Amino acid sequence: MHQALVRVRFCFNRFESGNLAKLYFNYSAMNAGKSTVLLQASHNYFEQGMHTLLMTAALDDRDGVGKISSRIGLGKEADLFSGDTDVYDAIMARHTEQAIDCVMIDEAQFLSADQVWQLSLVTDELGIPVLCYGLRTDFAGKLFPGSAALLALADHLREIRTICWCGSKASMVLRMDEDGKPVKAGTQVVIGGNDVYASVCRKHWKSGEPHKNTR
Ligand SMILES: [Zn+2]
Repeated sequence: MHQALVRVRFCFNRFESGNLAKLYFNYSAMNAGKSTVLLQASHNYFEQGMHTLLMTAALDDRDGVGKISSRIGLGKEADLFSGDTDVYDAIMARHTEQAIDCVMIDEAQFLSADQVWQLSLVTDELGIPVLCYGLRTDFAGKLFPGSAALLALADHLREIRTICWCGSKASMVLRMDEDGKPVKAGTQVVIGGNDVYASVCRKHWKSGEPHKNTR
């Protein structure tokens, strides 16, 4: 976590030095602290008297509509995007009301490919840096649409690391059904289901072990 915060601070300082705006994809498995890193980065801008626009996916309503919350208790209101949002237009409208210095998007895996292209316009045409935070792969080990487009288009890719119970880097998301059995196929996004998720290394994703000594 600390390293990730340092990296965000570093990229913030680079914007300050007058570099051209860039599109960033900060990716990780689940529960690596993406939202915390996002909120810290936003606060860094705030401290410098600058304005950020925070956005998150409309389908993620764990913490109420229009809010980015971190597991360590931080939270901030955010605009929502859904599948039919033109994110360039949405950002442009906000930018007209109040000049925006940086756009930060949580749950960026839920962006469509078109929306990622729209974000590239925000950096290339409006000159505003865009920092996207999201999961790289789903529980089946497949890229989310937004993650695939960001991996293809982002200027900079950064991994926010977390660890498996074995100590290795956790790069995969394991889904368990209500009986605790691993699920490897099915719908990519389940809203309101009883499934639980764990971030694990690839080896323990393959073996379906979310914890030590479960078999
Ligand atoms: Zn492991």
